[in-house]
Amino acid sequence: MKYPQRLTKDVMLLGNQYFSIYLIRGRGSHTLIESGISSTAEQIIRQIGFLAVDMSGIHNLLLTHAHADHITGAPFLKKMMPWLKVKTGPETERLLAKESIRKIFLRDDREIRTRLAALGAVENSHFDEPSLENMIDETIRPGQILEFDGNPLEVLDAPGHCKGGIALWQPENKVLFCSDYLGFYLPPDRFVPNFYVDYDDFSETFEYLSELKPAWICPGHCGAYTGEDAIRFIDKSRAEVKWVYDYVVNNCQSLEKIEKAKEFLFDRYYVGEATMFSAQSTRYCMEILIRRILSSKAMAQS
Ligand SMILES: [Zn+2]
Repeated sequence: MKYPQRLTKDVMLLGNQYFSIYLIRGRGSHTLIESGISSTAEQIIRQIGFLAVDMSGIHNLLLTHAHADHITGAPFLKKMMPWLKVKTGPETERLLAKESIRKIFLRDDREIRTRLAALGAVENSHFDEPSLENMIDETIRPGQILEFDGNPLEVLDAPGHCKGGIALWQPENKVLFCSDYLGFYLPPDRFVPNFYVDYDDFSETFEYLSELKPAWICPGHCGAYTGEDAIRFIDKSRAEVKWVYDYVVNNCQSLEKIEKAKEFLFDRYYVGEATMFSAQSTRYCMEILIRRILSSKAMAQS
């Protein structure tokens, strides 16, 4: 995939093979969706320059959810564009108000940017520690329609992956900014199910977003997809959610088996672009996946 790249008449894909950031160009003002992390912010600014987009026209930065890899680029982007209005959902704003969460995010940012540099994606120059305090300028809510330059963008509730996650939907061109809510695609053929908060909510969100029949799937990582690729994305990711559910139901009847299953899932999912996260945090995520399935309504009803 090429970065930056034009996807539709007004949506551009920025970032790199690990992080997908989107720029929606309007007549008078432009909007960024997703922030990446600290070390990708400079890359994004360079790409905006390459596209000859007037930086002073970028008025909005929309953050999708409270995970470090979707937040920590924001203070750097704002530093380079002080006029930028950072907007996100109420729950993300509430979580960012907690010092304990901000500390975890800064630690995660350091980890990911060290690994990204080792993977050769982006340089790890010397960074001032970003301040994530008081970063949000405006709260946006599910159900709200953002009218940027006459090109509406709907805010959708997307629970299950992260508390308070929101997706963004451009109905006119059927572009879905789904962040991490349709799984984490690792090209060419692996999908990581990522229902880190609630399996049932995630499945419901997944089906709700799929039913929109997006012409473009614009996730937070690893490219953007249209046509046959978008259909395949949804089918394969859904199949993987079903696979991991069945695997856990059949292989996690004791603590010992759970430990084994955790390692098995780790080997399956800690590959390709997913290695930008630490092995330790990925192992923790595998444990969460297992727990979410074992405590799901789907399991209780079966
Ligand atoms: Zn996430």
